[in-house]
Amino acid sequence: MLYFIKQNTIHTYPVAKGCAESRDQEQLRDTVPYEVKECPYCMRVWPGKKEA
Ligand SMILES: [Zn+2]
Repeated sequence: MLYFIKQNTIHTYPVAKGCAESRDQEQLRDTVPYEVKECPYCMRVWPGKKEA
C-alpha cells in the first residue's frame, strides 16, 4: 500500500472511493508517519475488506 500526504492529511494512493482528494506532486511513501491526520475515507478499515 502506498500513501501520500496532502495538507497534513494522509491518503492512500490511489485514493479510496468517497475521497475527493487526488495526488498531484506529493511524494509517495509506504509508511504512515505519526504526525499527520488520517483521511477518513482512505484510512478507514472497512469490515471484511481489510488488506495486509
Ligand atoms: Zn483520502
